[in-house]
Amino acid sequence: MTDTAYVDSFYARTRADDRRWPALSGVVRADTCIVGGGLAGLNLALELAERGRSVVLLEARRVGWGASGRNGGFVGAGYSLGTRRLLERVGPDDARRLYGFTVEAVRTIHRRIAEHGIACGPVVPGILKAGLAEEGTGLERDVAFMADTFGVDTLEYWPAERVRSALATDRYSDAVLLKSSVHLHSLNYARGIAAAASRAGAVIHEESAVIGHALDRPEKEVRTAGGAVLAREVVFACGGYVGLLHRRLSMASVPVATYVMLTEPLGDRLASVIGVPHGVSDTRFCNDYYRPLADTRILWGGRVSTFHPPAQRIAAALRRDMLAVYPQLADVRVEVAWGGTMGYPRHKMPLIGRLSQGVWYCMGFGGHGMSATTAGAAVVAAAIADGDDRFRLFQPFGLDFAAGPFARPVAQTIYWGHKLRDAWRARSRPRRAIAA
Ligand SMILES: Cc1cc2nc3c(=O)[nH]c(=O)nc-3n(C[C@H](O)[C@H](O)[C@H](O)COP(=O)(O)OP(=O)(O)OC[C@H]3O[C@@H](n4cnc5c(N)ncnc54)[C@H](O)[C@@H]3O)c2cc1C
Repeated sequence: MTDTAYVDSFYARTRADDRRWPALSGVVRADTCIVGGGLAGLNLALELAERGRSVVLLEARRVGWGASGRNGGFVGAGYSLGTRRLLERVGPDDARRLYGFTVEAVRTIHRRIAEHGIACGPVVPGILKAGLAEEGTGLERDVAFMADTFGVDTLEYWPAERVRSALATDRYSDAVLLKSSVHLHSLNYARGIAAAASRAGAVIHEESAVIGHALDRPEKEVRTAGGAVLAREVVFACGGYVGLLHRRLSMASVPVATYVMLTEPLGDRLASVIGVPHGVSDTRFCNDYYRPLADTRILWGGRVSTFHPPAQRIAAALRRDMLAVYPQLADVRVEVAWGGTMGYPRHKMPLIGRLSQGVWYCMGFGGHGMSATTAGAAVVAAAIADGDDRFRLFQPFGLDFAAGPFARPVAQTIYWGHKLRDAWRARSRPRRAIAA
């Protein structure tokens, strides 16, 4: 039998409630059937139910069980594909519109937290994007680029001295504070969206893995072990957990694992190491990201791999990463560590679109999914319910063949390549510890 429990994590240990939704039993009809209860599927269920559509969502385990309930909790505009690359790929007008979807999504997240009273706080403003010392300063240019090209006026440049006065490390050169970004409790947020969708009329079934489908007819059939949903519209929102459920969708992204750990409480000492409430990440593709929690622990994330090591190995690796930045924390214990899987398309943009009449997909959000899933759900819901065609802006980023789970060895080699390059750059620059 499949284990449907949440993975042991900070989020699972501190979830606000333990409401359950029953497994699907028998045959039911709906306008739309959504496969997957992560933030993509849940936001879509909420959007459609709010428009008066009948919706059934099938989740294999628990709502938010996947990446959506295990992640770093960083919420900010943008996609896994950086904004400069986005601009190169689709030109300024479409890049601005695509980026704009995620700016709007961040506003939607704030609105939904307030409207539905979602207990995912504290919702802490600000993410610091820090440059690495060996790269030299230069992030000021990014602030100007984002203002000139995307009209973003919520970025604040922090020179080296300001970064040093906030973070007790010499790992960083300079930083940009993303003032409109926040960090929050991602599982409580996902579960709050599930509850809101439920209240709006969406029918959610947990422990209801989809094991088969018939999609080539007006009324499609989506099957689980306990029943089936008959619906004119079906949306696949399975993230990196799609497995081999649908040949074309399964091959369009690579399942990539990434990791998070939680330290013991640091008490008063925390402020002398991380002297700001903001989340922090660095500018590498395979970056460190971490945030101080209200109870003085540090939640630290990073690394990617295409296989899941045991929790002790994750804890040891992330602890080494933390000590490389803050060696003064050598005596600090790790309380729990966990991993999650993201779906990465080759082009690093979400997979959003229509496969055939009534068959949709909204997945492949990579490592930047908190706002992008909200954005993707909004455009797919508008397409299904209102015939809106903004989803076509994602068409340049199609279902390119990425070999799905079969690409794991290649993806692992690419990651090791990134790590080697990072190590090579850092090599010339011995690190100096700043005492806490
Ligand atoms: C460790 C980690 C840290 C991250 N940190 C951040 C961060 O700080 N900020 C950020 O923006 N993004 C972050 N991300 C990325 C972000 O979490 C994801 O992009 C986003 O949550 C994807 O949402 P989703 O709904 O597409 O997928 P998921 O949340 O993975 O949900 C997919 C769901 O589909 C279900 N499913 C799959 N197959 C079936 C089936 N056959 N039948 C029924 N259900 C099925 C799964 O059980 C799962 O619950 C992180 C990811 C990880 C793993």
